[in-house]
This record gives sequence, structure tokens and C-alpha cells, in this order.
Amino acid sequence: MKNKIWLSSPHMGGGEQKYVQEAFDTNWVAPLGPNVNEFENSLEDYLSEGSYIAALNSGTSAIHLALIILGVSKGDEVLCQSFTFSASANPIVYQGATPVFIDSELETWNMCPEQLEIAILHRLKHGKKPKAIIAVHLYGMPYNVAKISELGKKYEIPVIEDSAEALGSKANNKKCGTFGDFSILSFNGNKIITTSGGGAIISKNKKHKKTAIFLATQARDNAPHYQHSQIGYNYRMSNIVAGIGRGQLEVLNERVAARRANFDFYRSNIKNTNFKFLKEPKGYYSNRWLTCILTQSFKIRENIRLSFEKENIESRPLWKPMHIQPIFKNCLSFSNGNSEQLFNTGLCLPSGSNITENELEKVVGVLNCF
Ligand SMILES: *Cc1c(COP(=O)(O)O)cnc(C)c1O
Repeated sequence: MKNKIWLSSPHMGGGEQKYVQEAFDTNWVAPLGPNVNEFENSLEDYLSEGSYIAALNSGTSAIHLALIILGVSKGDEVLCQSFTFSASANPIVYQGATPVFIDSELETWNMCPEQLEIAILHRLKHGKKPKAIIAVHLYGMPYNVAKISELGKKYEIPVIEDSAEALGSKANNKKCGTFGDFSILSFNGNKIITTSGGGAIISKNKKHKKTAIFLATQARDNAPHYQHSQIGYNYRMSNIVAGIGRGQLEVLNERVAARRANFDFYRSNIKNTNFKFLKEPKGYYSNRWLTCILTQSFKIRENIRLSFEKENIESRPLWKPMHIQPIFKNCLSFSNGNSEQLFNTGLCLPSGSNITENELEKVVGVLNCF
């Protein structure tokens, strides 16, 4: 069997083990400690813009805590980008609230501002003011930050910026992770940097950071015994994992450069001009977490995917939109057909920052047979 070419595999920088060793040496083997604090500080320095960050055990728990802090509860509605990973939407349901799905624009593949406004007006007309908007920078491409933020302000609905795939991306020279009322990051194994599993919640308000840490550590009241006045969660990042994060953050810029180089390699070496790539709109800078191509049809996409499989090359169709997922099919959605079309014809190519030139050539070799 040929060595597998992965879609996106972990890529250690070399500094991680030093921090993990420090945690062992000082016996900070707990969901708190110097690595957690330092990882948060480094992330805050990196994002700047007055960001306050709490490190958590996943991006999913970060979205969950953002919804809780925004007061989303049973019976509420939350507007959510349909074209995304289910983790963007699931925490809405954890709160007993209902997702309303918004389709994508073709410029960024992310939340369509027009559909968003149609949805807001529709829900207002029915006396159901949405409690939050969850917009996603999918595959590292920023959503239309100017318009989505403007709509959030105009209708006074807070925006949760799902930046799980977009650490290192920018729009108009501002970093993704700084645009939302709350923003979230993920450090899962396949993301641009990884801690094996982890995430972070970001806000511009120091108080929110404190509340997030309070909720993430079982909501303990200030008392010598264990006392609780509200429901808490076990969502804090471990000090071991944060050590990996510190090492990874040191190489973030290199990882972004490598992913962008993968994209450029594919774009210059794939001969079939029917395969389309997502362009960066003016002022946008994508980390190109995954390089995706759009083919002419579902059939061609599937033929390519199966050819890759035969060569032990991992590829994956683009995200299946939430509004056509079995679990969400009864939810209200505002669609224009774009995300379904992207799902049917698009394919993610191997895009790891540790992929070799030889491997990239193999992938291109398969594609150039079509
Ligand atoms: C990975 C991901 C998440 C969830 O992050 P986890 O750390 O895996 O919980 C949320 N949204 C998007 C778009 C993601 O890709």
C-alpha cells in the first residue's frame, strides 16, 4: 500500500515538547497552569485589537459558552451559516434554542448578507427577534465582515465569529478572530495549528473572559467549600495541551505560508481550466486552510474523489450544508441554492502544511487525467 496522502495532518514545530516537559517538571498536570496563561497571553498579543481570550478544550465549547453568555436559551432562535461543519450549529441545540440557517454568497462561500437580512426581517415580522448570528470563515476565507457586522449592528443582534478554520486570515488588514462580539478558535488535530484538541473564546470585554473561565470550570462560587449558584461546565484547556499550543503558535506564520503555497501550487499546475478555485476578494487574505476545487458536476467530482481513493489520497467533498442534514432538515432555512451547489461539485484537496512537493505532484497528476 502506498503511503497515505492526508487531507490535513498535524504538523509539530519542534518547540512543543519543551513546554510539555516544563509542565511535567513542575507538576502542572491540570486544567490550569503557566502554559494555559502563556498560551492565552500569546494569542492575545497575536490578535491584539483589545482581545481577551480564554483557552478551552474545544472550539465547540467556545461556541457553547458564547451562546450562554449572550443569554441564548430555550425557545430562542439563532441565525447560523448553513455551509459549515455541524459544530457551528450544535451548541444552539444544546441551549434548547433553534437554528435558522442562512445560505452562502459565491464571493466568499460564506453567509450571504442578502439572505441574512431577508431572514432577520422575516423573523422580526413573526415576532421572533434572533438572539445571535453565527458566521463562519470557511476554509480560511473571511466572510463579508463589513456587511455582516453592519447588519448585526443595524438590527442589534450580536455576531459570533466562528474562526475555527481561519487563524492567520485577514480582512482589510484585520485578523480573523477580532470581528465578532464573540469569536472562537479551534485547535483540533486537522486545523492550521493544533493542540491535539482545544479551542478558545475571544471577546473585547475582560469581564466576558472571566465569565467564560468561571463557566468552564464548573461555575464555583467564591467559598471555601464547593458551592454553585448556576450550572457549570468542564471546558477548560489542560496545561499539557496548552504547552503544545505555545509551540504551535510560534510557527503559525510559517504554517499559513505553507498552506498558501499549496494553493498556489495547485492553481498553477492543474491544467483543466474547468476546475475553479475560490479567489480572494479585494482586501481579503485567506490562510488557505484547505485548497478546494469546484468541478463541472457531481459525477466528475465523484470520479475524481474515487480516483484519489484508489491512490490512497485523502480528499473530501465540501461541507454538506446544515439545512439539508437529516438532523436539521425540519429547521427553517433561507437558501439560494449556492451551498448545495458547492457541496455537490466541490472537493477539498490534500492541504497540510507538511505535504511534500512530491505528494503535491502526485495529487496534481491524478487531477490532470481529467
Ligand atoms: C473545527 C470546527 C469547529 C469546532 O471546533 P472543535 O475544536 O473541533 O470543537 C467549529 N466550526 C468550524 C467551522 C470548524 O471547522
